[in-house]
Amino acid sequence: MTPTFKLAAAGLTLAALIGAAGCQRPAEPSGETASPSDAAPAAASADVHPFTVGALRLAALRDGELVVPIAESPWVEAGAPAAEVSGLLTAAGAPADAVHLSVQPLLVRDGDRVVLLDAGAGGQMGTANTLVASLRAAGVEPEQVTDVLISHAHGDHVGGLVNAQGALTFPKAVIRMSAPEWTAAQAGAEKAGAGPLIAAIAPKVETFQPGAQATPSIRAVALDGHMPGHTGYEIVSGSERLLYFGDALHSSIISVQRPDLANVWDRDRAAAAAAATRRGLLNRGATEGLRYYGVHFPFPGLGRVERKGEAYVWVPEVAAPR
Ligand SMILES: [Zn+2]
Repeated sequence: MTPTFKLAAAGLTLAALIGAAGCQRPAEPSGETASPSDAAPAAASADVHPFTVGALRLAALRDGELVVPIAESPWVEAGAPAAEVSGLLTAAGAPADAVHLSVQPLLVRDGDRVVLLDAGAGGQMGTANTLVASLRAAGVEPEQVTDVLISHAHGDHVGGLVNAQGALTFPKAVIRMSAPEWTAAQAGAEKAGAGPLIAAIAPKVETFQPGAQATPSIRAVALDGHMPGHTGYEIVSGSERLLYFGDALHSSIISVQRPDLANVWDRDRAAAAAAATRRGLLNRGATEGLRYYGVHFPFPGLGRVERKGEAYVWVPEVAAPR
């Protein structure tokens, strides 16, 4: 989510996030509908949400939550009035004093591949660091993960690739990310204090070009604007599909209802590439009724976009269980 591995570079402070951590967000208002998840196996844990895409079995895996005070939120830091941002949250029934962003990497069993989409924060930024426990609750040991597909190399997506001792969390997994993202991660590692992480994962990293088939059922999709090689992943089985859009959209309220609001976490905010990507995702999602997965949207992050006047609204597939 943030431009570098260190929150300070985004104008945030780690202390502020840790101090605000632990807040719980309420269930999203309305929008609960029947869904394919109704036919999925029951969750073994409140931190796991199993569901299907065609013949594929997937699970949302809760890693924790980022809590960003309004004054330090990326929209206010980019110039939006705090009252405007908190007003959007209040109108949606969310707490008005901070932006709550869930963190939930996605598990996909793709044939004989056990795939994780992003690796969580590894306890950084005040998160609970429950990814491995959630994975085990879904019936998968870390050693069984064969591929980790990275949307981008910010700390809340790659921090969980190593444990507290700096060893690989998923020792047998290939770590796949786009070539421009890996280049940027290596170039910015020292400044971001991420040198040890980059060194630990380097032997496992394999890069691809945007549009590549990352695994048999998962295709990489370039979603420009957040980071140099920011990548979404389209998961397809039969006639069903799901788009994991990474950090193209951060907040299910602010990013969806006000996609043109600049965000200091986006590298290309000045060039408006991130806003254009958001607009494209929202327009296409609403027009085609696409099923989306938001890694930072309220758990479990599944839902669709609908038009509301000149803007859009997020319609979650299931209400947050807590
Ligand atoms: Zn993020």
